[in-house]
Amino acid sequence: MISEQLNEIYQLLFEHFGPQHWWPGETQFEIITGAILTQNTNWANVEKAIKSLKSADLLIPEKLYRIDLSRLAELIRPAGYYNIKAKRLKNFMNWLFENYGGELANLENVDTDRLRAELLSIKGVGRETADSILLYALDRPVFVVDAYTARIAFRHELIEPQADYEQLRELFQSNLPQESKLFNEYHALLVRLGKEFCRAKARCPNCPLEKLPHMLDIEFL
Ligand code: SF4
Repeated sequence: MISEQLNEIYQLLFEHFGPQHWWPGETQFEIITGAILTQNTNWANVEKAIKSLKSADLLIPEKLYRIDLSRLAELIRPAGYYNIKAKRLKNFMNWLFENYGGELANLENVDTDRLRAELLSIKGVGRETADSILLYALDRPVFVVDAYTARIAFRHELIEPQADYEQLRELFQSNLPQESKLFNEYHALLVRLGKEFCRAKARCPNCPLEKLPHMLDIEFL
């Protein structure tokens, strides 16, 4: 049963790595900003960009909504692709202010499927970003998928290698208890596993999942 396999993987990862304390961020808004800035860059660069926004006292919805686009781009420069990311942040802010009065609290009563569809309609917000916002900032039970998740699921033959984002999300989401806390920890553990062991070239010896059936010779980009 897939649910038993997923549960065993979780237990092994949690025993090996312990809690991961994701997502780093002092407020819901900081987490959302980080989720938008982290596309195509490493977290250290995102932290620099967030620090820059904080130093300018701008990590506040109203201020980011009003800020000039070019100034915002300059402030988030450390995150890379700063012109594109500034537009994405602005697109999110425009959506929040035009539909929910600029208040994250107003999202609380919106059904998760509807909220996900709305987030995905914002230009520049893809599935992983939308789901990270839903799970980590808004505490919704939505499983976040990324390249690590896909690689580990394929290598452990939990799903076909051709599976797309939605199929991978469905694999985890429909075979685990619908708990945001669990989804949070599970995704963070998969990322840790992907970084330390299940890399493009797998490092199976001593991996916490080594004893489980897996493919040995598949390399990923
Ligand atoms: S490194 Fe090997 S044992 Fe570990 S998760 Fe990847 S395929 Fe599985």
